[in-house]
This record gives sequence, structure tokens and C-alpha cells, in this order.
Amino acid sequence: MNTGIDKNYGGECVDCGSLLELYEVDFEKNRRILQCTQCGLFHFYKKDFLGKWKIVKAGRVADLWRKSK
Ligand SMILES: [Zn+2]
Repeated sequence: MNTGIDKNYGGECVDCGSLLELYEVDFEKNRRILQCTQCGLFHFYKKDFLGKWKIVKAGRVADLWRKSK
């Protein structure tokens, strides 16, 4: 079963190009937040209908998901 967790977080920071690390996962809504290891920018990913992770937005605040509801 595909739980949505994979080792390839597939990300580079949109700002500085550094690697991203996992910050938070929301299984219920199929989304996750990654954070830049270098500058700390948050990247918001959502799973599309093909099961691929797509970046939705990037921002300095980790709770952008909640605000945009
Ligand atoms: Zn960065």
C-alpha cells in the first residue's frame, strides 16, 4: 500500500536551491511540508490525482495550510 511516504522528498529550495527536509506530513489531506536545510523556507506539497507530489507554494510560515483553508 502506498502510504505517501518515500525517501525522495524531491525538493530543492525555490529560493537558494538547497536540499529540503521533511517538516510535517498530513496523511488525511495528502500533503506535506518540507523545510529548506539552508535558509529555512517552508515548501508546501500536495499529492495530485496521479499520486505525484507537487509543490503548491513556498513561504516563511509553517502554518500557511491552516490559514488558507
Ligand atoms: Zn533555501
